[in-house]
Amino acid sequence: MNNLIEKLYEKRNLNDNEFFEILKSTTYDNNLRLLANKKRLEIYDNFVYIRGLIEISNYCKNNCFYCGIRSSNKNVDRYHLNKTDILKCCHEGYKLGFRTFVLQGGEDVFYTDEILIDIISEIRNNFMDCAITLSLGERTYESYKKLYQAGANRYLLRHETANSLHYNQLHPKNMKLSNRQEALFNLKKIGFQVGSGMMVGSPYQRLEYIVEDLRFLQKLQPDMIGIGPYLTHKDTPFKNFENGDMNLTLKLISILRLMFPYSLIPSTTALGTIHPKGRELGLQAGGNVVMPNLSPSNVRSKYELYNNKVYSGSEAAESIAKLKKVVHDAGYEIIVARGDVKKSR
Ligand code: SF4
Repeated sequence: MNNLIEKLYEKRNLNDNEFFEILKSTTYDNNLRLLANKKRLEIYDNFVYIRGLIEISNYCKNNCFYCGIRSSNKNVDRYHLNKTDILKCCHEGYKLGFRTFVLQGGEDVFYTDEILIDIISEIRNNFMDCAITLSLGERTYESYKKLYQAGANRYLLRHETANSLHYNQLHPKNMKLSNRQEALFNLKKIGFQVGSGMMVGSPYQRLEYIVEDLRFLQKLQPDMIGIGPYLTHKDTPFKNFENGDMNLTLKLISILRLMFPYSLIPSTTALGTIHPKGRELGLQAGGNVVMPNLSPSNVRSKYELYNNKVYSGSEAAESIAKLKKVVHDAGYEIIVARGDVKKSR
């Protein structure tokens, strides 16, 4: 195993069988963690970038089988934020030290291009030194282009799985893996810093599929890679499936850090949800980003993609002092910066 890990550190790549070998081992090798951390220190020092997450809408026209805010879930108390609400979150976030705002939501038809352009332009004019990240699902090339021209810099769109059989097991028939992948390449072409990623341990996932995910990411060369354990939601068709495995998620963060040394990898809320020390462990595995919640407190509990999501304590943006301490105790430092991807690859 150590030979494979050393090889991955040196070459940033392995063959499919070698990746499979590392993934199938039931342990999370300490040497893998140490080398991933070494690589991250070489490139990003011990800095952790913070992103202020604003969950702008829990409406979604889609019906992904794993998602708590899927359109057919009638138990969701739906909301969308208007420009004033969103700007208020940005002002509060800026005072707290955030220099990236992430506008995340379901595929909500309320947000036409015109409405989004108005919101993005206003944020851009008010916060010239901040990055604007969008995470609003699949849109057309023309739509993405307009949002980029309005001042958005980054876009997060997880591919979820690169295997089409698996994609069809996770999504209804009207959703296609090819559309998702095309959207990601469109975003890159337009000039966005692009983030992708997948759930770990989603229903029907096989280790071979994860190897396909790694190959897809090599093709895409994303700037940001977000992965987290699959977590179940009681109001979905997947309510009886087990949660994903934390150790496999941590192992994959380390593998991704070695394969994509320059990428920005969040230690996700899903990790913080599955284990009380999940956030810290994600950073020690190679993560260098955290995304505390900046949404208005009265909507936080309504944006529930999976059950028991943590949105208080160090997950809440206003508790930034607490988060700084958690990150510091794990061996890293939160800095006030946009935290763009390092260009050299
Ligand atoms: S995963 Fe995204 S696209 Fe799918 S239902 Fe949930 S919010 Fe909508």
